[in-house]
This record gives sequence, structure tokens and C-alpha cells, in this order.
Amino acid sequence: MAPYAPDTMPDIAYVNGRWSALEEAVISINDRGFLFGDGVYEVVRVYDGRMFRPDLHLARLARSASHIALDLPLTREDFLTLFEEALRRSGQREAIIYLQVTRGVAPRSHAIPPDLTPSVIVTVRPAPVVTDAVRAAGVAVVTVPDVRWLRCDIKTTAMMGNVLALLATNRAGGFEGIQVRDGLVTEGISTNLFAVFDGVVQTAPEGTALLSGVTRHLVAELARAHPGLREESVSATDLVQADEVFLTSTTKEVVSVVSVDGERIGDGRPGPVAADLHTRLRQQIAEACGLASVGARA
Ligand code: PMP
Repeated sequence: MAPYAPDTMPDIAYVNGRWSALEEAVISINDRGFLFGDGVYEVVRVYDGRMFRPDLHLARLARSASHIALDLPLTREDFLTLFEEALRRSGQREAIIYLQVTRGVAPRSHAIPPDLTPSVIVTVRPAPVVTDAVRAAGVAVVTVPDVRWLRCDIKTTAMMGNVLALLATNRAGGFEGIQVRDGLVTEGISTNLFAVFDGVVQTAPEGTALLSGVTRHLVAELARAHPGLREESVSATDLVQADEVFLTSTTKEVVSVVSVDGERIGDGRPGPVAADLHTRLRQQIAEACGLASVGARA
């Protein structure tokens, strides 16, 4: 991933009702998010000042929160208002809104005290950019063992498994790590994975082994319409036999993989199925955001 896009507008933060510059924002050392990773989060992409499908992200936040028995302190409408306010204050137009809700502040103990007030943190920063050059070349990925816990469907801030997987990936020179559990690909480290076999798009089914990506959902529905979708896990050994492999996420959209562990995928170039799905995803983004088009980046 390329560095954050240059932007002269400020990175801002909201912490429990207080607005500040990002680097001045503080939380208590007794925040359970800090102590235990006891919290959930979302990342919403902003295109030319408009949020893309915040409804889907807030629905997933509600699911994550309910799985960890956390009562969200704000309604869906409150969160949307907060996001709009954050965007207005930052002035950024190509951005990501990061939302984190933690269990709240209490002296360190695993036990959850009753009546805790959850902490709400929102930041706005420039969207990380996958450049056109990277998209055109495609990316190299490496497989890594999936050492995460057994509820990867919960978008929790406790991410040691992902952190260590990315460390191993970066040491191996990969753009992204492909996590493998019991011989099957679960997902990337911060992406979902798709493969194309004989014109049919295949991806692991939703469940506790992976995050139900917002982009995964949108791309899967596009693929279901055309050229066809099979929701079935891909084995690590079959993956290298795929005609195409690609990754999806809110910030990366659709990115083609051209090698896995140094083995070439297809003809070693980004394939047509991924390109078509990306085009159709961007049309959907443009439509949802009321934009003429969603452009490429230099
Ligand atoms: N899997 C994991 C583990 C992730 O962290 C992410 C990024 N949120 C994704 C998949 C992609 O999800 P989305 O399309 O909602 O960004």
C-alpha cells in the first residue's frame, strides 16, 4: 500500500465528545480498549466528501457489538451525524473515517463492571491509495498461517494475529498475507480473497473464520449476477492453480494478485474478471455517492 495521500487538511479526532487534532487526542490508560483490545471498530471510505455505504458499516458495527455484549451508546443516526461533523471539521474529501467503540474506562480487571460508559473515538485521515501503477502491475502475496482466534467475524480492535501475520508478510516482501487455516484460505490480513476457476468466482463462505467484508458482500453480489459465484473455501494448494486471484476491501476496492509465494497466477498479469468487477464496483460507488465517476489515482 502506498503512503497516505498528501492532503493539506488536518487529521482530526473525536474522543468522547472532545474534538482535537489527531496527535493531541488522548484516552485513559484504564480504557479497556487500551488494556484488553476490548472494543469494536469500522472504517468508512469517503469519496469526494461523500461516505460510501455507511449503513453497511454501521450494521456490521451493531453485529460486532452485540457479539461482545456491548450496548452501543449512540444510535445509527447519531453515528451518521458524528461522521458528517467529523468530515466537515476535517475538510478532507478523499478520506477514511475510523470509528472505534470500546467497553469504557475502569480499573484493570478482566471482569466487566456494570454500567460502564463505552468510549467513542472517531478519526478522519486521508484515504490510503493503491496507485494505478500498482493496480496495473498486480500484487505479490505470501501465505501465512492463520493464528487468529475463532471469532474472526467480529471486527474487534484486538488484532495481534493480524499484526504478526503482517510482520511475517512484510519480511517476506508480500503486499498482503493470505491466511491459511487447516489447509484452507480464510482471508487476507485486512482483505477478503477471491479466486477465479473456469470463469466462476470463488470465495470462502461467511462464518466465524473470516470477516464479512462490506466489499466482499458487494463484489460477491456482482459476481453472482455475472459471471457466477461459488461460496466455498479455496485450498492453499488450489489457489496457485486459479486463473485469477484478487483481494477486496473498503480502502483497496479490488486488487489483482499476480503471484502467491512466488508462484505465478494465470499469465502473471491482472485478469479480466477482477477488472470487470472493479469497474462495476466503482460504478456502484459513484452512484451511491452521487458522483459522475470514481477515478483512478496516479
Ligand atoms: N478481512 C479483514 C480481517 C479486515 O480487517 C478487512 C478490513 N476491514 C476486510 C477483510 C475487508 O473488509 P471491508 O471490505 O469491509 O473493508
